[in-house]
Amino acid sequence: MVKRIRADVRGRVQGVGFRPTVYRYATHWQLSGFVRNTAAGVTLEIQGEAGKVAAFIKELKTAPPPNAKIEALQIQEIAAGEDTDFVIMASQRSGTMETGMPPDLAMCPDCEGELFDSQDRRYQYPFINCTNCGPRFTLIQSLPYDRGHTSMNAFTMCEACQREYTQPGDRRFDAQPNACSVCGPHCRLLDANGKEQSGNPILAAAGLLQQGAVLAVKGIGGYHLACDAKHEEAVKTLRLRKNRPAKALAVMFANLEAIQACCEITPKEIEALLSPARPIVVVKRKKNFPFPELLSPDTNDLGVFLPYSPLHHLLLAQISPLVMTSGNRAEEPIVKDEKELSQILGDIADDALVHNRPIVRRCDDSVLKIVEQVPVFIRRSRGFVPNPIVLPLSGPSVLACGGDLKNTFCVTRKSQAYLSQHVGDLNEKTAHDFYQEQIHDFCKLLDLQPEILAYDTHPDYLSTRFALQAATGEKVAVQHHHAHIAAVMAEHQLSGPVIGVALDGTGYGDDGTIWGGEIFLADFKQYQRAGHFKSYALPGGEQAIRHPERMAYSYLWAETGSEADEWAQAYLTHLSSSDRVLLKQMIEKKIRSPQTSSAGRLFDAVAAILGMGESVSYEGQAAIRLQTAAEHEISEVYDYQIELQGNREIISFGPMLQRIIRERKEKVSIEVMAKKFHNTVVAALGELCQKLSLREKINRVVLSGGVFQNDLLLRLMIKKMRDQGLEVYYPVQAPPNDGGIALGQAAVALARYRTNE
Ligand code: ZN
Ligand code: ZN
Ligand code: FE
Repeated sequence: MVKRIRADVRGRVQGVGFRPTVYRYATHWQLSGFVRNTAAGVTLEIQGEAGKVAAFIKELKTAPPPNAKIEALQIQEIAAGEDTDFVIMASQRSGTMETGMPPDLAMCPDCEGELFDSQDRRYQYPFINCTNCGPRFTLIQSLPYDRGHTSMNAFTMCEACQREYTQPGDRRFDAQPNACSVCGPHCRLLDANGKEQSGNPILAAAGLLQQGAVLAVKGIGGYHLACDAKHEEAVKTLRLRKNRPAKALAVMFANLEAIQACCEITPKEIEALLSPARPIVVVKRKKNFPFPELLSPDTNDLGVFLPYSPLHHLLLAQISPLVMTSGNRAEEPIVKDEKELSQILGDIADDALVHNRPIVRRCDDSVLKIVEQVPVFIRRSRGFVPNPIVLPLSGPSVLACGGDLKNTFCVTRKSQAYLSQHVGDLNEKTAHDFYQEQIHDFCKLLDLQPEILAYDTHPDYLSTRFALQAATGEKVAVQHHHAHIAAVMAEHQLSGPVIGVALDGTGYGDDGTIWGGEIFLADFKQYQRAGHFKSYALPGGEQAIRHPERMAYSYLWAETGSEADEWAQAYLTHLSSSDRVLLKQMIEKKIRSPQTSSAGRLFDAVAAILGMGESVSYEGQAAIRLQTAAEHEISEVYDYQIELQGNREIISFGPMLQRIIRERKEKVSIEVMAKKFHNTVVAALGELCQKLSLREKINRVVLSGGVFQNDLLLRLMIKKMRDQGLEVYYPVQAPPNDGGIALGQAAVALARYRTNE
């Protein structure tokens, strides 16, 4: 009996070899009909013997293409047609844009085989790809995903490529970026003045790197700055020119074995390193690490990753490992095209390895760390964006503007939240060009017109000003730490209420002070500040953040009075006596000294008290040093106090600070004090969460905020909560830092919208 069905497939089904797979299965089962991309996904009609039609459906469901994700498959029986063979039809642009757009995919093993096969026609061709691999998000101008809508539209396929592209059953059948050395993009090597150099550009680039040069290398989502990771002078030069004195640099290795030779890596870390997203994975360096300490001077960790574009494979085959850090000036967006190259070429990079396949949108490398067998993001960008995160809420489209540091924004469609790629730190310049340009681009790409704008309550955030200046849309202000907690609730599909522990550097509080050591009772709609770290003066604001010894002085002055001076003179060696006089005046007279309950500042201050407080060149530096020092088994804790003031529980670490300054005098080891400090923070939070859990009958605890990038703290907290019989949730799909707050803002806005309906 002949049967014809129509199937509408939704999910991530474009750009992942879906139609060719449908074609192969249909022809295998001798079915006729067609398949085509639509704005909503993929539509197919198949006709043939009923048993074969069923077999086809079963095969498609059980063995979809490796990078596809079928979210919905709607099948209906329709009248039989006249067609006798199976075809792939041109795309149809209609309906709503609901198709899941694929992220960029690392080169697959089949293509790698061809790349290094001297008999293959694509031998050493740096832009090899197929239906299972290659750039997507950074290449697509608009959906549906067809060559004409990508930056490959400038290249006309040669006969051989065209044959593959149109030959059903070929690995490159309908592979949109298909190319070869005859018809596709090419590399060039430029000198500091932008003049093209002769010879094989990749070999010549490797030669320059060997000599210690710093190169700009055009990749998938932007440029990298590269240098030989073994070459201490080259690494120093790169750091100096990029004005990045100490923050860890990511290192790309030719293969997994090379990483295993110098780092301790676990099976979960290997899985992450080899995943098609190819993120930077932060792992432990081995004790006898053979490369310069300078790569990550503040920590025993190192961010490592594997080549993901064919160009990387060819370059790394010549020289490995390479420092591969974002191609930008500090705090500026990653450079993506030849026009912007002048920002880094000449000044930072000696030469540039470029190519002529345009990058449509910037996308930095993603960074993650495995904690308790689960990957936790530090930055969620290339390889993951624009995969949606499913919310337990739905409603009109929301644009959540994010924060000011490590900015990402988020746009929703029904219950799907699309967290943007890493935008970075907003300042007057980037906020206006880059941030707004990216929001516009992202909404256009996803075909969304947000009706609600969610933003941080901080009046001076540029993201807040952007939201408030927008001409249309309902505006919803969301408190910073509520957003942190809501983000974790959202990704774990919790509706609340929860006990939320938000530990971070800075966030605008409802009372106008700076919050950051917060314990909330929260659901999506609202929160109650049930407790917080005791507040201290932040003398000079930014100044105290950049110079942790100033913060240490503020804590000590509050806790020990005149003893602080004597002690500071001996141990806070970067503070002069006039600095101390000035600090004292600022704190006492409350001059430019806002109050803060920030956990980030507590970590800074304790780092400074333990002698790690020279001025910091990047956010979190002192805390990273403190965590690194805390490699000790000791499980003892210092004294602390939890005191009910009004309706809030105040956690004071005053007794701990008094004890630590005595132990410094007694020359107790820094490792012991650093570890005991971590234990104490965990013990205090554990006690308070337990108390709130009993009082409020809430068993769920959510951890969030940038301080939880400290994986020692995160692991200790997870254990403590579980030991106390509490259910603990922490950020997995979005980073704990401010790169995750847009997700929480979106969830809060949807929840509040529902109440207002
Ligand atoms: Zn491939
Ligand atoms: Zn070709
Ligand atoms: Fe934050």
